Amino acid sequence: MHQFGSRKVVIIGTGRVGSHVALSLMFNQLVDEIILCDLNEQMAYAEMVDLKDWTSALDVHVKVRTGSYEDCADAQFVIITAGRKRREGETRLQMLDGTFKILQGIVGPLRASGFNGVLIAVSNPVDVITEYLYRELDLPRNHIFGTGTALDTFRMRRAVGNRIALERSQVEAIVMGEHGDSSFIPTSHVILGGVPLHEYVRMRPEHAELLDFNSVSSQVRAAGANIIKGKGATEFGIGATVAKIASSIIHNEKRVIPLSAHLEGEYGERDVSVGVPCLLGGDGIEKIFELELQEGEQEALHHSCDIIRGSFATIG
Ligand code: NAD
Repeated sequence: MHQFGSRKVVIIGTGRVGSHVALSLMFNQLVDEIILCDLNEQMAYAEMVDLKDWTSALDVHVKVRTGSYEDCADAQFVIITAGRKRREGETRLQMLDGTFKILQGIVGPLRASGFNGVLIAVSNPVDVITEYLYRELDLPRNHIFGTGTALDTFRMRRAVGNRIALERSQVEAIVMGEHGDSSFIPTSHVILGGVPLHEYVRMRPEHAELLDFNSVSSQVRAAGANIIKGKGATEFGIGATVAKIASSIIHNEKRVIPLSAHLEGEYGERDVSVGVPCLLGGDGIEKIFELELQEGEQEALHHSCDIIRGSFATIG
């Protein structure tokens, strides 16, 4: 009898973010099997039982169990969320030392497992961590990337939509660059309800002030820190973001999402992973879109890349 293959995901680090990644994948029944892998085995076990209760109550058929690196051998996805919560007032770049030490212990067994699926990095500072993983693991660059500015982009679309009372899916715009304080919005590529930004402002001059993208950028950059201030961690938004990325690949959706991708000359940059628009389909990142940026935007991207490269140079 023909056996259908099972979609298997290993989540390394099952704290606030990892457990919510699991929950988001389960909500959409995107995968068949989720393996939770955490240094804190007692906590991973507790998360597993709690998530199993969730499947029982909703009668959802996703297997959840704890596991080890050996499980990565035949996994379609490995999602890395190991680390610790960002502290109040801390920048993501300031987390590098701690996350790097943790990641050093992960790459060896992950490589040894023979994993050859798609790796999604979430741990911060995500661009630096993605570049490190890309260099350490022998995976093609379309199969190894970070969540980059995806969550920032979803936040930004909501913020702009709220400002001008426009449905957020009609805000066609992205956040690019570092997932951090140097991220930026390329305003030369903003379309609102099918209308380019400059035409939209001509038709609705009363919205010009609300569409100050410097102010939108500041609002979006502060969003994560504000959640951390209130509840100690961000978890739902990033969980759903990872599920959206996985879904785009599993369903071969051909969806453009800005992700932290390793650049090999695109935008005149190399040796760096940074948030750029990526076409996602069945083969992971199927194309990096190289937007024609205006001078200031290109400078902003270079600035982000310099920050990420500078931070990367401090490790090892
Ligand atoms: P958390 O402290 O709740 O969970 C981190 C987990 O990692 C803990 O359970 C810990 O035991 C585990 N861990 C540590 N070392 C490990 C190892 N060697 N192997 C396996 N597990 C290990 O923190 P959190 O709130 O879940 O955040 C996790 C990471 O995700 C942080 O780096 C955070 O900044 C990042 N994050 C990224 C985004 C994004 O957009 N990229 C958004 C939110 C959070």
